[in-house]
Amino acid sequence: MKNIAILGSTGSIGTQALDVVRANKDKFKVEVLTANSNIELLAAQAIEFDVNAVVVQDETKYEDLKSLLSSYDIKVFAGEAALAEVVTFESVHMVLTALVGYAGLRPTISAIKAKKDIALANKETLVVAGELITALAEENNVHIVPVDSEHSAIFQCLAGEWHNKIEKIYLTASGGPFRGRKREELTSIKKEQALKHPNWTMGAKITIDSASLMNKGLEVIEAKWLFNLKAEQIDVIVHPQSIIHSIVQFNDGSMKAQMGLPDMKLPIQYALAYPHRIDADFPRFDFLNYPNLTFEKPDLETFRNLELAYEAMNKGGNMPCILNAANEVVVAAFLKDQIGFLEMSDVIAECMQKVAFMSQPSYDDYVVTDKETRIFASGKIKN
Ligand code: NAD
Ligand code: MG
Repeated sequence: MKNIAILGSTGSIGTQALDVVRANKDKFKVEVLTANSNIELLAAQAIEFDVNAVVVQDETKYEDLKSLLSSYDIKVFAGEAALAEVVTFESVHMVLTALVGYAGLRPTISAIKAKKDIALANKETLVVAGELITALAEENNVHIVPVDSEHSAIFQCLAGEWHNKIEKIYLTASGGPFRGRKREELTSIKKEQALKHPNWTMGAKITIDSASLMNKGLEVIEAKWLFNLKAEQIDVIVHPQSIIHSIVQFNDGSMKAQMGLPDMKLPIQYALAYPHRIDADFPRFDFLNYPNLTFEKPDLETFRNLELAYEAMNKGGNMPCILNAANEVVVAAFLKDQIGFLEMSDVIAECMQKVAFMSQPSYDDYVVTDKETRIFASGKIKN
């Protein structure tokens, strides 16, 4: 029995993780659930899975959550410090980081220090502080098992190959809803159009990131840290069918790919059950339904974010943290119709030029960088 804490249980990854647990009650037990503010769903989940503790990030919701759970033996907490605390409970074996954005950094650090294995969906944590996180994981002998479908694919391809040399990896990208469009066709894009992803149903932030190709940029940085790669070893290839989830090319030229229908439950289950595979009745891929699997070069002129992410990765230090914070601000603004689709990249690029660069940031430096970038980026957005 593996006891799990799910951070962000009310979201897209969180609810699918609970589907996986529901189908495998003999293998997994949920110890802790957390959410930002949706206390009705959080309380219902907590009751169904008979958890030990819940945390709501928004402290104004604490009393209401407490009263929803008053007749149950479930501990109730609120706030950022509590989030970092519950992941250290002795009864927790693995922490699934399914919350979105920079907010994942602190509880992930806290979980690793408490020697909990991490099922990592929250890619922003590795983007912001990959060096710190991977060093900490090594020091504490903690596994970081990726949930992101591309990284899960690479991870699965590397099983049994840990000591062999990787020549390069190819991260596949669907291309998002605007694949094939040029800049002039994207000037008046509205959030409703950007929120329609062709192959995946996901939370709002990552859906916008997919439309702008920032998601792939964040994933390139995520891959660098997960698999200890150099920039020139990471390539992105657009594959609109999202069947091949990513590819490893070894030093003898041999390539391994992992494929299947796009369904996040598979990588979630793989991470939770790692190193085992467990039975699942997920729909199976049928070759005859996909006579053509196609591949294209990403269009970096139209989708500047991917280039900006490579730039941030190459610069290193706190630059990926600046990229991430700026992106979180512009995506939130785009979702409120306060900034245009293409202008998002302009603000990110400006933040990368103007916010103070640090080559060897500590945790506290990341906190400051994140805050300063948010202030600078917000100042660039007209309300
Ligand atoms: P989502 O918006 O659907 O859910 C986010 C969850 O985090 C919710 O439970 C919310 O309550 C919680 N949350 C939000 N802000 C928070 C804060 N400040 N503090 C604490 N909790 C907070 O997001 P999602 O699509 O499930 O994505 C979650 C993470 O997984 C992201 O990092 C995303 O990049 C990654 N990911 C998602 C998918 C997917 O298919 N959805 C695929 C790959 C990777
Ligand atoms: Mg992905």
